[in-house]
Amino acid sequence: MRNSTCPDTRWAWIEIDQAALRRNTRAFKSRLGRGTQLMCVVKADAYGHGAVPCARVMRGAGADQFAVATVEEGIELREAGIEEPILILSEPPMECVATLVNYDLMPSIYNEDFALAYGECAASMDRVGRYHLAVDTGMNRIGLLPKEVLEFRRAIDFHRGLECAGTFTHFATADVLEGWDFDLQWKRFTDTITALEQAGLNPGLVHCDNTPATILHPETHFDMCRVGVGLYGMHPSEVTVPRLDLEPVMSVRARVTRTAFPPVGEGVSYGYVYRVPKQNIQIATIPIGYADGLSRNLSGKMEVLVGGMRCRQVGRICMDQCMFAVDVNGARSYRPAHPVSCGDLVTIMGEQDGDCITADDIAALRDTINYEVTCNFGMRLEKVYV
Ligand SMILES: *Cc1c(COP(=O)(O)O)cnc(C)c1O
Repeated sequence: MRNSTCPDTRWAWIEIDQAALRRNTRAFKSRLGRGTQLMCVVKADAYGHGAVPCARVMRGAGADQFAVATVEEGIELREAGIEEPILILSEPPMECVATLVNYDLMPSIYNEDFALAYGECAASMDRVGRYHLAVDTGMNRIGLLPKEVLEFRRAIDFHRGLECAGTFTHFATADVLEGWDFDLQWKRFTDTITALEQAGLNPGLVHCDNTPATILHPETHFDMCRVGVGLYGMHPSEVTVPRLDLEPVMSVRARVTRTAFPPVGEGVSYGYVYRVPKQNIQIATIPIGYADGLSRNLSGKMEVLVGGMRCRQVGRICMDQCMFAVDVNGARSYRPAHPVSCGDLVTIMGEQDGDCITADDIAALRDTINYEVTCNFGMRLEKVYV
């Protein structure tokens, strides 16, 4: 394991492996054909990894464009000097059209009122409002239905303040092999693009692939792929695992802040759902809790890595701290347990001493997906870029 530096103010932090992020980005870029751009999805603060530092690494490793979820996220990138095109993955409120033009952020568009307000605003500032048209081919989330696309384009294309920079859709089931649902969405999308071209309307960059589609369906890459979770070294599904090697980028670490050997029968943490069951159980505290994304649902279920051991977290996870138990003497004999000390390094997620806890492991315990695990850890913990 690398030397862990830790912030001065708190003994719990996220470690971001920039080299792994760079290699993952390159791995995706090298899968795309010459004519296909890589749009790196850095929404939700780069899935908790920190949007600006991650975007800086990605742009040196093959990113052509960026995508975010909100206008605020786009502004953050622009103010940090990111100059690549930035797409907002849904249509923001109409009140922000001037902000979009000022910061050169491309909205996804599917309402005529919004499109015309945006074009009007851009024209009044002597600019062109570039946008991507969203097509709903079956996700039933955002976009125009395929049958509405031609009429919509004809209704707004007259506007000199508007330019269609792209047309895209989003798959609901790209992570399933051999899916009829995927095939139907794909057909609806390609039919829509063909109809646009036959009508003499330029669709701009055509794109539809998220991480799983990029890995599993190279025939659907078109002009650009929108890759998110894979850049951060996580697989969107088990079926993509054998197709591409990815390296986890985020680790979550802490240092022990306090230790004790409470007498047998003592309760630990709120509600005393855990009581010390026998002699020689050491209870150690780490300063990370559910407000740091360590979901309270993990209470009593998760383990941490410390000093070459795997130790069970015990008692309810608090907002800012939690405890784990070291079964001194009584532990499995192949891995003798020994007491820990204040300041000892603890890994909540990531590698330590040849053992590893992944975002997928934590997601399984929480009954969620790896995406949510890293997003949640990003909420409050300080990020250290190594
Ligand atoms: C989040 C998102 C992506 C990226 O998805 P991953 O599975 O993380 O690659 C791509 N496109 C849209 C529209 C999204 O919302």
